[in-house]
Amino acid sequence: MINVPKGTKDVLPNQSYKWQYLEETAREVARLYNYKEVRTPAFEHTELFQRGVGETTDVVNKEMYTFLDKGGRSMTLKPEGTAGVARLFIENGLASSPMPVKTFYITPAFRYENPQAGRLREFHQFGIEVFGSSSPETDAEVIFAASSFLNKLKIKGVKLEINSIGCRICRNEYNKALKNYFAPHVEEMCNNCRTRFDKNPLRILDCKEEKCKTVAKNAPKITDYLCDDCKKHFEGVRSLLDAQGLEYSVNSNIVRGLDYYSRTVFEFVSTEIGAQGTVCGGGRYDGLLEQLGGNSLPAIGFAAGIERLLLLMENTGVPFPEETAPLIYIAGMDEKSRAQAFKTALDLRGKGVSAEVDHMQRSVKAQLKYADKIGAKFVAVIGESELESGVLNVKKMSDGSCASVKLEELYSYLLKEDK
Ligand code: ATP
Ligand code: MG
Repeated sequence: MINVPKGTKDVLPNQSYKWQYLEETAREVARLYNYKEVRTPAFEHTELFQRGVGETTDVVNKEMYTFLDKGGRSMTLKPEGTAGVARLFIENGLASSPMPVKTFYITPAFRYENPQAGRLREFHQFGIEVFGSSSPETDAEVIFAASSFLNKLKIKGVKLEINSIGCRICRNEYNKALKNYFAPHVEEMCNNCRTRFDKNPLRILDCKEEKCKTVAKNAPKITDYLCDDCKKHFEGVRSLLDAQGLEYSVNSNIVRGLDYYSRTVFEFVSTEIGAQGTVCGGGRYDGLLEQLGGNSLPAIGFAAGIERLLLLMENTGVPFPEETAPLIYIAGMDEKSRAQAFKTALDLRGKGVSAEVDHMQRSVKAQLKYADKIGAKFVAVIGESELESGVLNVKKMSDGSCASVKLEELYSYLLKEDK
């Protein structure tokens, strides 16, 4: 018996409607906000993530699924969506399209992590990326899009936390301050953070190790080091959120897990699913396109983890829409009436009505039992007399009521009754 790989999950036929609901909701939000779908390969040249996500991040350091292909090239399964979309943008010359370019994706992502609730090795993200605008309106719109996605799913108890991590200029000053602060504590930190101390002290604030979190607790705050432009930008974003009454708190410890962020960063966090509480994270990454060899264009986006959202919804009893079921089950008594049932089901399906028939040579009684199990909303039995009269006895399962319906009127009857 071969099992599913550790840290991955199957989606079973009686669960997939929840996924479809989340994905449809994501697509609906994308439509409302005018984000167009993009799809990128499941694997990319390893260098894309090294350059795009950053060498000092956990994702690149510890979590990537990297392999040599048969041609000896180093490839990596995408650990996140943004780098691939940025590559797509540059490679396809989208910089010459009207700005901003607003995109979204729904994609699997792969990270070699320690699997636990809400933390998998293959997981899925709904993300959006907007290229070409540096205005606070765009930051605010991206945050509203994420918030509206969570609202549409009727998710409650998720808190929005925002921060600004400034630009290269203010971060230079801030990194110096961080170095001064962390210098006497280097010995107390994990090995990774010791490297980060030299290369990118900001990353230390994102470390998940308790000892590093303790040391980082009283670190200087980035918001005290923002340059005038970054300060103004952050105030602009905040006032747009304030004007709509969107609640948030400023959390100066949010730096996000990936290196490419600048200015606005944000997370939607729940306290209902344990340590893996961040259901959606995002931010501005004005330096990424240039870093990947493209034009210097600002960009911003978010990614929401679908498994974590599902977990949260299940844990807090958020209602899902009903699982889909056939509108009608048509049972057949003997060979002739089974053939009629088969044909009627095909006709209905051709008109857009979901219909089911027997596949197992079951007795009529067993067929009706099955129809009930699969949740068919109507049931009709065809036998000799129905074949003769062309009239079916159609039972509405919700209230047990019956109606005589002419075979050729079955479609319009079902349409009328299925309200
Ligand atoms: P975390 O701090 O929880 O490790 P992250 O900062 O690494 O998250 P991002 O790279 O920002 O996460 O990914 C965006 C979203 O994708 C997260 O907010 C989360 O909902 C989801 N996500 C990230 N890693 C995983 C994973 N291993 N399993 C399931 N979902 C994940
Ligand atoms: Mg992570």
